[in-house]
Amino acid sequence: GVTGNQQLQSDVASRLSFYLATSTGWDEAMVRNLLLASLGAGQFGIFIPAGCDRDHAVELARGLRSMFRKPFEINGRDIMVSVSGGIALAPDDGDTPELLLQNASMALNEILRASKKGFQFFSPRLQRLAVGRARFEQELRDAVSADAFHPVFQPKIDLMTNEIVGVEALARWQHEKGRMISPGTFVPLAEELGLIDEIGFQIMQQSCKAAAAWNAAGMGVSVAVNVSPQQFDRPDFAYKVSQALQVSQLPSHLLELEITETMAVTNPDRVTRVMGPLRAMGIKLAVDDFGTGHANLSLLTEIPFDIFKIDRQFVTKLEDDPQAPAIVEMILSMAKTLGLKTVAEGIETEGQAAFLRERNCSLGQGFLYSRGLLDHEFRTLLSGWPANRRKMQATG
Ligand code: C2E
Ligand code: CA
Ligand code: CA
Repeated sequence: GVTGNQQLQSDVASRLSFYLATSTGWDEAMVRNLLLASLGAGQFGIFIPAGCDRDHAVELARGLRSMFRKPFEINGRDIMVSVSGGIALAPDDGDTPELLLQNASMALNEILRASKKGFQFFSPRLQRLAVGRARFEQELRDAVSADAFHPVFQPKIDLMTNEIVGVEALARWQHEKGRMISPGTFVPLAEELGLIDEIGFQIMQQSCKAAAAWNAAGMGVSVAVNVSPQQFDRPDFAYKVSQALQVSQLPSHLLELEITETMAVTNPDRVTRVMGPLRAMGIKLAVDDFGTGHANLSLLTEIPFDIFKIDRQFVTKLEDDPQAPAIVEMILSMAKTLGLKTVAEGIETEGQAAFLRERNCSLGQGFLYSRGLLDHEFRTLLSGWPANRRKMQATG
């Protein structure tokens, strides 16, 4: 029997060859000499031996796209197929079929990498980008084996008492020559390459170790670690978390895990199942970037969270966007109803802090208090922080 996929592959091929034979409007010699080849599942190559310039290629791309606006009928069902392609032109982009194909694939990969659709010409700029990315990829892989990632710790302040009660661990990549690279640059690539799991646990282990040492020195503050979807989806996630606790000897009530709202609502059952035993150990679960995921609020109430983290974008706009205060108030009242704690992230002004304090937001985090600090910097900050000192003196 022929499977749906095989059927589709052959229908796509027929449609392509029909188009090339009848609809390009090119002169007969060009049409006669062109070649359609199957390059694997869902991939085709079109070779046009001579007389094809840039304009012809643009025309062809446009024509092919319009050919795919009609669905394919497979086993009685309509299937839409999208089409993307890379284009390389001889002699500028290569003077052998191999090189042309390679460069056309590189152009195609650029399109697909960006999760876009359409056609892309090969260009030297594109090649530089691809080479640069390949180098960056290799550096990232090397960095994972070299343990070149470490956390910085951003304090979280109790808005009522001004005490530092916790930190969020933020990953940094210590690149060669002392350059520190932010997660915005490497987390998406690490996710794409399947390396985020490894990096995430390196950060978690180091964070637990640091927090355990602060705790042993009488400065018990909690540490929150960001968890990426790939990490969370691994079957051994809970095991690795408990390992990190065991090795570091960090009391489990001092560990928090942050997962994004989008992650939580994508698979609420898994979140509930995985977090059940971890929460029973005392680990807390925070929903990160609350308010950005367009999540169904009633669904969010069913997931066992301990903490809502109000996204920075709302805090930033508190003083100049008429919507933001209402959204923040809504999140705070929802948290209150559910009996959860709230953390406002990205506080940069006293005005924002005052707004949040007046509405009983539990904790604040942001540049107003501190950026992310290295372990020894954080210890210095903590031991000199007035509210914490007062408390330590009062408790002896
Ligand atoms: P996030 O979890 O929302 O982390 C907060 C980000 O906001 C951090 O950026 C922090 O430096 C920044 N920030 C904190 N306070 C302020 C402020 O007052 N103003 C402004 N403008 N920014 C502030 P960072 O460290 O670049 O992290 C970016 C994102 O990378 C994080 O967003 C988190 O989603 C991700 N990330 C960080 N560390 C890890 C990690 O270990 N694992 C995973 N999976 N993701 C991580
Ligand atoms: Ca976070
Ligand atoms: Ca956040």
